[in-house]
Amino acid sequence: MPLDAALHLAEQNRVRYGLRMYLMRALGLGLGAICVAAVLYEHGASPALWGLLAANGFAWPHLAYLRVRARRDDPLQAEYQNLTFDAAMGGFWIAAMQFDALPSVLLAVMLTMDKVIIGGARFARRTLGAMAATCLAASAAWGFAFDPRTSYPVVLACLPFLAVYPMAIGVATHALARRARKQKTLLEKMARFDAATGLMNRQQWLHAATHELKRFQRSGRAGVLVLIDIDRFKDINDGYGHTIGDEVVEEFARLLKACLRDVDTPGRYGGDEFGVVMPDTRWEEAIVAAERLRRQVAAFAFSTRGLRCTVSIGLSECHPGIASVSDWVNSADAALYRAKARGRDCIVVGC
Ligand code: GH3
Ligand code: MG
Repeated sequence: MPLDAALHLAEQNRVRYGLRMYLMRALGLGLGAICVAAVLYEHGASPALWGLLAANGFAWPHLAYLRVRARRDDPLQAEYQNLTFDAAMGGFWIAAMQFDALPSVLLAVMLTMDKVIIGGARFARRTLGAMAATCLAASAAWGFAFDPRTSYPVVLACLPFLAVYPMAIGVATHALARRARKQKTLLEKMARFDAATGLMNRQQWLHAATHELKRFQRSGRAGVLVLIDIDRFKDINDGYGHTIGDEVVEEFARLLKACLRDVDTPGRYGGDEFGVVMPDTRWEEAIVAAERLRRQVAAFAFSTRGLRCTVSIGLSECHPGIASVSDWVNSADAALYRAKARGRDCIVVGC
């Protein structure tokens, strides 16, 4: 069922999004910490700075993940806060590295690139602001010097971050794009098909009928439009409840599909009313198919309760007097109305 599939996909997306963010953060901050460590080592940094680096690079990614999981009501908001914190800490490390050129630029670029991917340019600007503010504040508070020279060992320590992280971002972005495509296909399907029966919905089915009408107008090839309505369906709802009524509708749709040729187009016209477009078919042939359906429905034991029900059928063959699809539907509908008036469980051909 498309609706179930969409809900399932949304839940799957939520879980995967959190997990993907966790892995990317663990990788990015871990590799970033190696660059920073190389500079701190050269500067003979204090144990406090080493402790902070270890906490930020290797403990924070797990904590960030737990924060997002704990905020089930608004995980995205929690993730945005985490990302802003990442950027702010990036600013702190740039200052702590005394603006060592390569690792500083690397940190600033990588931390901004993933923000652009996740939250767009506006969010990236905001986090860049947080990064700059923390950088300036840290410089002022701790009196970090300004020494942008990069030594060769620091260049080497930056290489894993430089090589691995952009690749990982590429892979994650590709996976995201693939999921977005899958969701788009599913949404398109939901817009065209009835969730309960899997048949075309009214709009899509009318579209198919219009297509067939135009074919008739172009080539004169025969075509029949059939409308089918379950008899006394309200009584089923009233007597057995709507859940059983829903089951009857679903089972009827399955029967209908099984009865038709591959070229016929069934659809749910609305409620307990269904339509079929039969191309290259004359009314005499359509009657045979409709009669087969009518009999099968009458003989079928519906639902777990072995319910019996019947259908009334109106059909109309296309002719030059039919100018629009609503003319065609009206013609079949008038026939269906007459079938109801005749006592139901029968077929009437419209003119
Ligand atoms: P008739 O023989 O004249 O067709 O009588 P009917 O009782 O079938 O009446 P009608 O076709 O006018 O109404 C059908 C009712 O079916 C109206 C609506 O409440 C109910 N219904 C429509 N769609 C669904 C559905 O998907 N599930 C259930 N359970 N009921 C539905
Ligand atoms: Mg009915």
